[in-house]
Amino acid sequence: MPQWDFLNFVSSQGKKFRTFDLLMEHEAVGLVQENGRIRGVQVKTANGNSEIHADLVVGCDGRHSAMREAAGLALDEIGVPIDVLWFRISRRPNEANAGLGNFNYGKAIILINRGDYFQAGMIIAKDSFDSVKSLGLPAFRENVRRIVPFLGDRVDELTDWAQIKLLSVQINRLRQWYRPGLLCIGDAAHAMSPAGGVGINLAIQDAVAAGNLLALPLRQKQVSEMLLRRVQKRREFPVRVTQMLQCGIHNLLQRVFRNHSAVRVPTVLRALMRLPGRQQLLGRMIGVGVRPEHIRTGLG
Ligand SMILES: Cc1cc2nc3c(=O)[nH]c(=O)nc-3n(C[C@H](O)[C@H](O)[C@H](O)COP(=O)(O)OP(=O)(O)OC[C@H]3O[C@@H](n4cnc5c(N)ncnc54)[C@H](O)[C@@H]3O)c2cc1C
Repeated sequence: MPQWDFLNFVSSQGKKFRTFDLLMEHEAVGLVQENGRIRGVQVKTANGNSEIHADLVVGCDGRHSAMREAAGLALDEIGVPIDVLWFRISRRPNEANAGLGNFNYGKAIILINRGDYFQAGMIIAKDSFDSVKSLGLPAFRENVRRIVPFLGDRVDELTDWAQIKLLSVQINRLRQWYRPGLLCIGDAAHAMSPAGGVGINLAIQDAVAAGNLLALPLRQKQVSEMLLRRVQKRREFPVRVTQMLQCGIHNLLQRVFRNHSAVRVPTVLRALMRLPGRQQLLGRMIGVGVRPEHIRTGLG
């Protein structure tokens, strides 16, 4: 029988893997269940299918989580009015970062500086990609040029729809993040919108909180449902607050979609931008979040 200890895995043939190596080669396709308790995962590998048994399965497989589905955990969807179209466009040396601030004519584009190119994200109304496509690539290029005029001489790099990828934005939350022997964290427990760029922070904070609460009990093989509930209780509050803020950003974006003329910054936002300490507050909200976590596993 394959065996796990905390960081290493020994297969039934006695071969030793580090956890990381193992995870890179295995696709989790189902759960091993016994008497209502989850005892491990069914995995698909290049060498065939297998089972890995564990005292606790952590479902951290993202917003299309197979583990969550296999466990039959109920998911609450929170409506999202946007999708994002990602594409690359070249960037000149010393060109401004441009960041998040390209809103105009009922459209919005995010630019992320990746050195010699921008990762660009055009925010569009939910499920409108087909109608964007039906207007043709020249119209798409023209929109990019109109929203971000300084990219005007480079939009011709977009020659095929294959360069433009649709990422469907979701916000949702599991009602219960766990079952006996299973805990979901990160997007598997709560898919985050890209708004604010904080989804990864929350996923890491979930992992730290789970480590702090469960490392010692795991070593003593005493992970109870009550402990798993404590992880959810600790992390659900920051998730709810962050998702609520993301919904607020989506509502603002909807106002941009409705306004087909050049954007004027709302008076309230202009006043907020003048508040002293706003940058520190924003930096803290994005970088640290509502409930910071520090590694304190008690393992010594
Ligand atoms: C368009 C878009 C843009 C975003 N931009 C940002 C951003 O700029 N900054 C930010 O912080 N957040 C951003 N987010 C949110 C962020 O991507 C997620 O919140 C974050 O990645 C969640 O981390 P995670 O580890 O839970 O899941 P993921 O990052 O999705 O990781 C899940 C991992 O599990 C693996 N996996 C999946 N299924 C299986 C399986 N069956 N077996 C084995 N492995 C499996 C996957 O390969 C992946 O490595 C964005 C989201 C979207 C949709």
